[in-house]
Amino acid sequence: MTIIVQKYGGSSVANAKKIRNVARRVAESYKKGNKVVVVVSAMGDTTDELIEMANEINPSPQPREKDLLLSTGEIVSSTLLAMALHAAGFPAVALSGPQAGISTDSSFSRARITGIEPKRIIKELKKGNIVIVAGFQGLTEEEDIATLGRGGSDTTAVALAASLKAKICEIYTDVEGVYTADPRLVPEARKLDEIGYEEMLEMATSGARVMHHRSVELGQLYNMPILVASSMVDRPGTIVHGGKNMEVQNKVRGIAHDLDVAKITITGVPDRPGVAAAIFLPLAKAGISVDTIVQNAGANNITDMTFTVMKDDLPKAMEIIKPVAKEIDAKKCLSDLNLGKVSIIGTGMQNTPGYAAKMFQTLSKQNINILLITTSEIRITCIIDGDRVIEAVKALHKAFKLDKP
Ligand code: ADP
Ligand code: ASP
Ligand code: MG
Repeated sequence: MTIIVQKYGGSSVANAKKIRNVARRVAESYKKGNKVVVVVSAMGDTTDELIEMANEINPSPQPREKDLLLSTGEIVSSTLLAMALHAAGFPAVALSGPQAGISTDSSFSRARITGIEPKRIIKELKKGNIVIVAGFQGLTEEEDIATLGRGGSDTTAVALAASLKAKICEIYTDVEGVYTADPRLVPEARKLDEIGYEEMLEMATSGARVMHHRSVELGQLYNMPILVASSMVDRPGTIVHGGKNMEVQNKVRGIAHDLDVAKITITGVPDRPGVAAAIFLPLAKAGISVDTIVQNAGANNITDMTFTVMKDDLPKAMEIIKPVAKEIDAKKCLSDLNLGKVSIIGTGMQNTPGYAAKMFQTLSKQNINILLITTSEIRITCIIDGDRVIEAVKALHKAFKLDKP
């Protein structure tokens, strides 16, 4: 049987009319003879609203209850979509993540899928049902519901596609595919016809939220072709795949940005073995992911250590770091909340000089100060003032001629 997994994001199921539109699209694929599994996100801004409500009741809600609460958003949209299909005369069944056989580890709010036992899904498909799965959630070993992190429904979809050996995983969203930059910021951004997993992964981890980064990782791991396309208009979209890029190689493919960056600097850190471990172990234990880390070359055996975390993690990270800094005889802990990062990405940059210089020059022409720089083989990232990020993205898009094919 040919299985197709389709995923519809929050804005595509934001109200009854949009849910009926999704039902129509799902039914079209079903009528072609496909076995269709659909993953949905919560309606519109539901997840944000639930988080707000939780914080109103209790400023630091217990992770277990918070995740159970957030998982309800996807339960609502999945059941309503099943009802819309029933109303249109199609057989459909809605399943929660646990009912769909999705297991996760127990890191609430950022859980990873540890396995999928799809027997219930297969049983329903064999009965002729369209299967609608609530995205973004799974069951821990302790039988609690855990969520996969913001944007995680994409990951549910790709993981299901891999476990069901689907032909393709189709991600339908509110833009027509993956663009050279966020099309909402850069009107000149061009839709890419295709992009390799590697480049897409760098885009996603650098802030291009059109795909959840874990979903790209899983796509690459299982070599699952992914289509990113609009849920509103019938246009070709972008294929994310593992083959060689067909488009020009020697080029920057995209610019990604992220406004969710906070920086912590510990000054006067004694330069001796063990201090980095002393700083980063407790952060890791608390589940705080640290992004960029920079340690200056020390003078007189004293150095400064700077690293970035997500804005929401800053208060907790500071709480953890202050006593550690004291213990290791560091001088001060400073933090900065209003930062952002901008990245240029492309396999074409590999072993080719000049890209970094051009990026720095472009930012300098805009009089934008670079605070930190990090690179991978196919990415250069600059951390800058949060208020200048949009300007930086636009300038870089132009400088690297991304508006031209
Ligand atoms: P969904 O709810 O469908 O998952 P998201 O809001 O998570 O949708 O992701 C789609 C959004 O990603 C777009 O509306 C767009 O603003 C943003 N985006 C950021 N970078 C890119 C990019 N390079 N290409 C396309 N969209 C991007
Ligand atoms: N509803 C969740 C979120 O808003 C998951 C998702 O949309 O993919 O992050
Ligand atoms: Mg999303």
